[in-house]
Amino acid sequence: MKRLLLSAAALSLISGCQAASTQTAPQPNDTPKAKNVILFIGDGMSVSTITAARIYEGQSQGKTGEEHSLSFEAFPNVAMVKTYNLDAQVPDSAGTASAMNTGLVTGIGAINIQPGNEAAGCRDETRSGPVRIIDLAEAAGLSTGIVSSARITHATPAAVYAYAESRGFERYKDMPKGALSIGCRDIAEQLVTSDVDIALGGGRRAFEKYSRGSAVSLIDMWTQRGDDYVYADDHKSLKALNLSSGQQVLGLFSNSHLPYHVDRKASKDPSLTELTTAAITNLEARDTGYFLMVEAGRIDHAHHQTNAYRALTDTVELAAAVQTAYEATNPNETLILVTADHGHVFTIAGYPERGNPILGLAKRTNRDGERKPLEDADGLPYTTLGYHNGPNQRDDTLLTDNAVQAQDYLQQTSVRMESETHSGEDVILYGTGPGSERVKGSFHQAKIFDIIVDSLDIRGAQEVE
Ligand SMILES: [Zn+2]
Repeated sequence: MKRLLLSAAALSLISGCQAASTQTAPQPNDTPKAKNVILFIGDGMSVSTITAARIYEGQSQGKTGEEHSLSFEAFPNVAMVKTYNLDAQVPDSAGTASAMNTGLVTGIGAINIQPGNEAAGCRDETRSGPVRIIDLAEAAGLSTGIVSSARITHATPAAVYAYAESRGFERYKDMPKGALSIGCRDIAEQLVTSDVDIALGGGRRAFEKYSRGSAVSLIDMWTQRGDDYVYADDHKSLKALNLSSGQQVLGLFSNSHLPYHVDRKASKDPSLTELTTAAITNLEARDTGYFLMVEAGRIDHAHHQTNAYRALTDTVELAAAVQTAYEATNPNETLILVTADHGHVFTIAGYPERGNPILGLAKRTNRDGERKPLEDADGLPYTTLGYHNGPNQRDDTLLTDNAVQAQDYLQQTSVRMESETHSGEDVILYGTGPGSERVKGSFHQAKIFDIIVDSLDIRGAQEVE
């Protein structure tokens, strides 16, 4: 179902006047024009995550590490980005992704719906919700794609194509009766009926028959939309598709999230880089111009467990995906943005010497030339990487070089909590390509919407019935 779209500026006057909005006063658009935009989001990729991943990648190449750079650190334009939600000092991914997709500072936990407007959530889906990038892109004839290493219905990818008063509405079985009775739809169903042209990620369980109690699965709903609507469920079936023929592709490669990069079976599980390449191949072949969002969704999950090893290795994989995207696109026509939705309470601390293994015990070489662990106030060694809060399964017998550098080691924490939390500090936005000149200064992440729609010159796009 198509709907008539007002310009984003006009709609923000209707829907966003009570909220802090960056849509209300658009600048005259003298931004250089981009044909395509690729937005990479490292979920939870704090500044400290980037620093530690840079050192990790450098050390794995035989360097001391600190002097190394991740691929996107070579981008010419950089900004500091504020991440608060309308009602939260420390944000969640639903509020932050909604801000990037609508240009509005939105509430925690909801997908593209403003606090106080929950009752209108389902009405918003079809009539009066904030205009999203995908709406303007579609109205302007552009194609749209999503890639995520998390479930494709998880908060960050959902904000590209869905409206939901709760990010928890991923599956039919997650829907409260009251929400269903007024016509709300689960996020998975919203995806298979959306304008997204290619969606690759995890979360298959939300699309299968048993999830809906219906004879028709959401995968069937997708493939029944037309002959060119195809489905892939593993690495092999994705490779078998003719991606450059403009097929409409749904790819669901795991029941829930995709495995962490280091845990994946290469024959079965596509990597983030491979999924990014597949999406770009499909979208470039259409020659319409496109908006592609790529999420490294599991950096966040590793951090929540205080497992620095997997947070860093998934960040290194994101950097590889960005490099691949840069090489696969024309720098004169493609704006590439790399950012995080929010930070984590992850720190690099304690005066280790230059080149000290980033995952290791903090060590320094003394006057006698011996490399010795530094000690805490109790005389115990400690790791360079740690967290302000989290499970803190501290076992002093594990404070050895081998134990702390093992894949499953969980870092020490200060405040004991079941799950480590997000942080409220700023994140970085990196940009290259047409329109990236506006990636400078300090602003709320809602402005990323403005940078994207102005670079694509789709702010005033209107759907023609
Ligand atoms: Zn999180």
